[in-house]
Amino acid sequence: MLPLVALLGRTNVGKSTLFNRLLGSRKSLTHDHPGVTRDRIYGVAERAPCPFALVDTGGLYLDSAERMEEAIFQQAREALEEAHFLVLVVDGREGLTELDRELADYLRRTRKPVRVAVNKVDGAELEERLLPEFHALGLDVRAVSAEHGYGIHAFLEELCRDLPPAPEEAPVQEGLKLALLGRPNAGKSSLINAFVGEKRLIVDSESGTTRDSVDVALERGDKRYVFIDTAGVRRKSKVRKSLERVSVLRALKSSNRADVSILLLDALQGVTVQDKKILDYLSGEKVPLIVAVNKIDLVPKAKLGQVKKFFQWEMSFCPHVPLIYTSSVSKSGLGGILPLAEKLWAQYSKRVSTGELNRCLQAILERHQPPMAGNRRPKFYYMTQPEVAPPTFVFFLNDHRLIGRQYTRYLEKQLRKFFKLEITPVRLVFRTSRG
Ligand code: GDP
Ligand code: GDP
Repeated sequence: MLPLVALLGRTNVGKSTLFNRLLGSRKSLTHDHPGVTRDRIYGVAERAPCPFALVDTGGLYLDSAERMEEAIFQQAREALEEAHFLVLVVDGREGLTELDRELADYLRRTRKPVRVAVNKVDGAELEERLLPEFHALGLDVRAVSAEHGYGIHAFLEELCRDLPPAPEEAPVQEGLKLALLGRPNAGKSSLINAFVGEKRLIVDSESGTTRDSVDVALERGDKRYVFIDTAGVRRKSKVRKSLERVSVLRALKSSNRADVSILLLDALQGVTVQDKKILDYLSGEKVPLIVAVNKIDLVPKAKLGQVKKFFQWEMSFCPHVPLIYTSSVSKSGLGGILPLAEKLWAQYSKRVSTGELNRCLQAILERHQPPMAGNRRPKFYYMTQPEVAPPTFVFFLNDHRLIGRQYTRYLEKQLRKFFKLEITPVRLVFRTSRG
């Protein structure tokens, strides 16, 4: 992105001649909105001491100072707003006019850097005579001749010295790496294509083991998300066969490389044996996971409630895993995927302060004491969170063997509630300690 310099001034002062002169021979012109008098014209000054973009705002046909603002707003407002540097062009031969003064005041009020090009000063001998009165504008002035080139080099050097550095484009942040898992035909390719259809996409061939798999990046806002190891986006027919064979294995591998995994189920197929294999593995590995029940458009409205209940029940063995319902055809649910992945990742990487941990443990114990184990009562001393990804909580107590399944479930539920860890996997560890 180049800094943008705008040429402003009354008509006939020589703006368009100056525009061409500043651009040199390699000017590239594009026409903008047709203005009242003529189009705004952009170009890039590549050969100047510093490269910059230039916009000629068109002539300001002004017949009275009162109409100044109106005229500016009609013709040059946008150029003024987007420019980083303003050049007021005046006619040295005509001398300083009231409209030049008005314009100078107006430009000064934008608080952008302004300098004056006193044009039609066709040689050094004229400069002494023509330039002095323009100092009254209280701005930096430089005599130039757009037509003959006089003073242009010095003008450019000064301009480059004062030009603000090129505004940097907001850097694109690395967003999450996502693995899209699921049986062949679950709709993975279609889902990616549905995402891709909307926004800018970059497809890189993965320099890995499988020739057919690619990483697909898409940019949303200032973030770049990557669907890693995605088969089937290109050359679908070729991919299909290898996908059949290796999909479980690949699912497991790519979930290792990803930050968040999304398992696609087919709404009409339910949870198949292969889906269960993948789910078991992922939940055992504490992989941050979203389950998307896809092709939901194929479910008749009347059956929707029933279908959702069915999947909730199927997934009840890991109740924290968020279930969403998506369709690449109707696009329903697609907009929620990335925000949900962000939320999941945030929870998965959450670190809780020691103070919070202690308050939490106290509150949990007060609400529900651990039951006696035989004639011994478990006694908790404190808890720590030594790890994130997933959040891992270690409870120190008089004897770790005294904690049963049911109380463990209670503790997990409470921790999730306290620390807002509703959808991430968590790990609970019990350690015997002397207090
Ligand atoms: P604009 O309406 O501000 O864009 O002005 P133009 O670039 O169309 O120029 C208006 C008139 O001034 C034209 O006849 C140009 O030939 C003339 N002109 C422009 N620059 C110079 C210059 O440096 N010296 C002289 N003598 N005439 C110039
Ligand atoms: P992949 O093997 O997981 O990549 O699945 P594809 O994206 O190739 O989809 C398999 C089939 O399901 C294709 O015929 C798709 O047109 C169809 N399909 C995919 N997503 C949807 C969806 O959301 N709704 C419907 N009705 N069909 C879908």
